[in-house]
Amino acid sequence: MSKYWSPIVSKLKPYVPGEQPRIANLVKLNTNECPYGPSEKVLDAIAAAASSDLRLYPDPLALKLRQAIAVRYGVTAEEVFVGNGSDEVLAHIFAGLLKHDAPLLYPDISYSFYSTYARLFEIDTVEIPLSDRFEIDLADYDRPCGAIILPNPNAPTGIALPLADIERLVASHPDQPVVIDEAYVDFGGQSAAELVSKYENLLVVQTFSKSRALAGLRVGFAIGQRPLIEALERVKDSFNSYPLGRPAQAGAIAAIEDEAWFEDTRAKIIASRDRLTAELTARGFEVLPSSANFVFARHPGHRGETLMKALRERAVLVRHFAKPRISDFLRITIGTDAECARLIEALDEIL
Ligand SMILES: *Cc1c(COP(=O)(O)O)cnc(C)c1O
Repeated sequence: MSKYWSPIVSKLKPYVPGEQPRIANLVKLNTNECPYGPSEKVLDAIAAAASSDLRLYPDPLALKLRQAIAVRYGVTAEEVFVGNGSDEVLAHIFAGLLKHDAPLLYPDISYSFYSTYARLFEIDTVEIPLSDRFEIDLADYDRPCGAIILPNPNAPTGIALPLADIERLVASHPDQPVVIDEAYVDFGGQSAAELVSKYENLLVVQTFSKSRALAGLRVGFAIGQRPLIEALERVKDSFNSYPLGRPAQAGAIAAIEDEAWFEDTRAKIIASRDRLTAELTARGFEVLPSSANFVFARHPGHRGETLMKALRERAVLVRHFAKPRISDFLRITIGTDAECARLIEALDEIL
């Protein structure tokens, strides 16, 4: 606390990212990064962009990147908004679309940045509890509200809703923006992007951080009809006109165009996830059915925090949330098969 702070600052509850420590021989399964490097074409494009042109500002509209995303998802460039990571896109969404007289709804167990943004932008919220099976029950969202946001697949559970359910939610709230955060959709979910032409209240958010192995580049995007995208553009141009530098725009274009790398990498991660799920289940873990690049698992005989610490002593990092209902779960990112084997070895020592 300091007398120099704006009053809101002392009320914030900043998001706590998973740690990025320097430990020798570390198996890092705590922040849902991709275990494989990005496409070589992305690295070449970024190298080419690292030229004397860096003295020039980048395209503030990121038009070529928006066009590449539009082609990939069957929309127009005007229906695409890009930002410095989907976290920044989400921040603009909270500021520009989710603050109304009636409360914003989202699941009680979900991406913890939602409550952080709600505080920053002073948005009234209602957290809707997941069911006993840690599923989102959309009937619970059938209540007066100003807007809805949920991840599909949900985080940190990894559980996905079918597209038909998402469509029913969007169709039953025609007067509210409904935001679907698809950070993990490429690992087994169904994207709602194809519904955007049909529903003016639907906004779909995705990121290059997970399925395109570019967490370090910071690129995310949203797809929606013009009125929603225009709100985001107005907020962005009231905040930072150049959120994506030249290397980020060039790298992201190459990433979206390298469909072969994308298909190959996500297939490898899905196959590793299925093997890791079987290994954990064989050791007594309850593993929630995951459509993401992580699993959420608990062991009936061991506390989550104890397991997390014992793994850390063996240089294996996983994510633990000290929150009611999920404090015995570990969120384990899918690594390479060698990394998953190191995790299992460490667990066999501990259990
Ligand atoms: C990782 C993640 C994001 C943010 O990704 P960026 O790296 O900021 O693009 C957004 N939503 C969810 C649910 C995530 O897990």
